[in-house]
This record gives sequence, structure tokens and C-alpha cells, in this order.
Amino acid sequence: MDTSQELRSVLISVVVPLYNEEANVLPLMQRLREVFTKIGCMWEVVFALDPSPDRTRDGIQRLVEEGYPIRLITFSRRIGKPLSLLAGLDYSRGDAVVTIDADLQDPPELIEEMVAKWREGFKVVIAQRRSRKGERLLYLKCAQLFYWLLDKISEVKIPRDTGDFRLLDARVVREIRRFRERHGFLRGLTALAGFPTIVAPFDRDPRRSGKTQISLVGAVNIALDGIVPFSRVPLRLMFVLGAFLLFGGILGGAAWFLWGLVAGFSARWPLAILGLLMIGLSGLVIVCMGVLGEYLARTYEEARPRPLYIVDELIEASSLERKISDDNRPVEL
Ligand code: UDP
Ligand code: MG
Repeated sequence: MDTSQELRSVLISVVVPLYNEEANVLPLMQRLREVFTKIGCMWEVVFALDPSPDRTRDGIQRLVEEGYPIRLITFSRRIGKPLSLLAGLDYSRGDAVVTIDADLQDPPELIEEMVAKWREGFKVVIAQRRSRKGERLLYLKCAQLFYWLLDKISEVKIPRDTGDFRLLDARVVREIRRFRERHGFLRGLTALAGFPTIVAPFDRDPRRSGKTQISLVGAVNIALDGIVPFSRVPLRLMFVLGAFLLFGGILGGAAWFLWGLVAGFSARWPLAILGLLMIGLSGLVIVCMGVLGEYLARTYEEARPRPLYIVDELIEASSLERKISDDNRPVEL
């Protein structure tokens, strides 16, 4: 069998999390169709939809009726991008799965190169941003700091300047599905799963239509989810700081006592310095409690046997190659 024949029997799933993306769905599908026609393989798109106030759902339904190979899952409530992505992986049936944003910031054309690298034998192909257009400078600086920190303290290696745009072999998807971790930080989970990995550089475009759906608080949450579940360094740092202060205190106290024995004890301790020291130390203790709280809260979240998400409806186009509704085994939720 030659390569093009082999490719024809390959199915690639594209998982797209979305919320309020009605204007972007059709252009995304058109660009995906062009890409897969060029590659010459079978394809399906799994839309993982957070219930949106706009008409994203109706738009997708129309495309299903027009014959696009689409599987749509909608959630019972808005669960956010990270968990939507994991749900999308649960509902994909491809030999490889590409995860991509709906707003066309991630160019679908890169999929051709990703598939080529996958065919060379890499099980994970991660799109790496060479440049980012249309983002605010402050946001870019914060992102840079985040990637630097992640690189320094994460227990798994996550390539810098990479987001969730990636290709995962079906084997990797199967392994990631076993983690069931509530934070849903795909970058960390992919690194945890392992397997031969390569990056594919690209220039990130500005959002095609609409504005970002992830708030500042949401972005901070995602950043914390990237750090806390994958690093014990903040906890260690608390210990080191505490030990440093403890020994500093003992040494300082001993020096003061010895000095007092020699030069006589004086009651003229500058109170202002003492007060500032107290405020500083209280602040440090409270910050440490906050760090501890981040770990504790996540332990509690993981300990509750709640499903990661609840699917409200599942719509499948009749043109889909492998249907979930035809599967004998139930969808693992
Ligand atoms: N998204 C989602 N649920 C949300 C917020 C965002 O599924 O609650 C989707 C969104 O529609 C898009 C992707 O996640 O496809 C990335 O979101 P966005 O472009 O707003 O984030 P940014 O590019 O600014 O990180
Ligand atoms: Mg975006």
C-alpha cells in the first residue's frame, strides 16, 4: 500500500472547545475542510460546546445538516475550556486527535505539518508560538513570566510558548483519559503521559471575530492549574523560608544575648523596626497559608467523586465514519 492509500483509511479528529463563537464556526469548518482535502484522509470535528447565549449551537446544527462530519456535545452548564477539551478527547474516535481553538488564532493549515510529523512516528506534536499577534503587551509579558516559571518548577517538561493546540496519537489520548484530573491542564497531562514528542513552530494570529472568552481571573486560574498540580516547589519554598527565619531568629537572639552580656542590655530597641518585622512576618505566614490552601483545595476537589462534566446532548452527523451511537461500549464519562 502506498502512503496516499494508507492515509485514506486514517481518521483524524479535531476537538474544538467553544463558547459564544457563532461567527467563527463556519470559517473554521471551511478552512478545516480545505486542509483535510489536501491531506487526503478522513476527518471528524468534535465540538465541545459550553451552553452559549448566542447562536453557536444552531450554527453547528445547520452545518451538521449540510453534511459536515461533526459530532456536537453540549454541556449541562458552562465548564470552561480545560474540561471541555478533556470531554472532547473522550468523545473523539480518530487515530489521532488535534485540539484547536474555535477563534482561528491557531491556523488549521498547520495540521498538515502536524500529521506529517505524526506519520514520521511522533506520538505528540505540539504547536509552538513563534509570535503572537493581536495580544496586549501586559498579557504577553505575564504569559512569558508564566512559561519561565513553569519551565523552572514543573516536575514535567512542558515546551515553552505552547498552548493547547496539538496533535495526540490515539494511544496518548487513551492514556490522558485515564488521569481524570479536575484541573484539566492538557499541557501538563500530555507531558505526564510522555511518548515521543516534537514541536511545530507557527505564528499565532489574532482572534478572527469576537473577543476573548477567558477572563483575567480565568487565565490566572489556568496558570495556577498549570503550576500547583505539577510542582511541589511552592510547598518546599515555604519550608525553606520558615527554616531560614527560624535559624535567623535563633542566631539573631543569641547574638543579641551575647552582645548584652558584654556591653550591657539596653531597653532602647527601636519599636518601629520590631513592628515592621511583625507585619512582614504575619504577611509571610498568611501568604504561606494561601499557598497551602491552593494545594489543600485541590486535594479536596480531587477527593470528591464528582463527574468531570455532564453532557446535555449529543448530535452526530450521518457522515461520521465512526459513530459513538454505534459503539457497543458506553462513552466513558
Ligand atoms: N472557551 C470555552 N469555554 C469558555 C471560554 C472559552 O470553550 O468558558 C473556548 C473559546 O470559545 C475558544 C477557546 O476556548 O475556542 C479559547 O478561548 P479564547 O479565545 O477566548 O481564549 P484566549 O485565546 O484569549 O486564551
Ligand atoms: Mg483565542
